[in-house]
Amino acid sequence: MREVTDSIHRLDAARGGNAYLVEAGDRSVLVDTGLASGGEKVVAELAAARILPVMDVVLTHYDPDHVGAAAAVQRATGATVWLGAADVRILRGDALPPTRTRRAMLRMRWLGKPELPELTALPDDAETEIVPGLVAAPGPGHTPGHHIVWWRGAAFIGDAARVSGGRLVNFPGFLISDRAQADATIAAISASRPRLILPGHGVPDRLAPAD
Ligand SMILES: [Zn+2]
Repeated sequence: MREVTDSIHRLDAARGGNAYLVEAGDRSVLVDTGLASGGEKVVAELAAARILPVMDVVLTHYDPDHVGAAAAVQRATGATVWLGAADVRILRGDALPPTRTRRAMLRMRWLGKPELPELTALPDDAETEIVPGLVAAPGPGHTPGHHIVWWRGAAFIGDAARVSGGRLVNFPGFLISDRAQADATIAAISASRPRLILPGHGVPDRLAPAD
């Protein structure tokens, strides 16, 4: 586990996508989990670390490289696993992704079809305070139920964007469910002036000062 700040750590064991651990008061919160294939190692890393108990797992969105290990973590810890309501509907098969490419990705089990944890839906039209000071805010675009997690001015942005040259930029178009929403989400993150960006892929980074 790598220390990012005194309360944020990045897991070494997560595969495919980043998993972050936040020590928030009297408990730990995991943000994303990586692929299912990393599940056992993620559980072992959490068990070996001297951390407060993991009570909540917040998934930024439904893609298997973020959701994958959540079922294993939930089995090991009993944590509540949160995911945006629209993404919960897609994972449960109650709704289809909005684009043809994303429907094909789901059908072809792109990045696998992980076992689903018991999911608790985050509202897609309001912020949710998971624990005092740690907030999941709707940030749709990449997927309809995508959320951004905020903690002490740091933004866990999932795949809402990636950081390039100190700026937030879009993922390739075929991965985006709604381009206008994705642009609005990036604008909203930037406007909130995060002091640190914790992306779903790649290393934590800072944005260049606004000009
Ligand atoms: Zn991803």
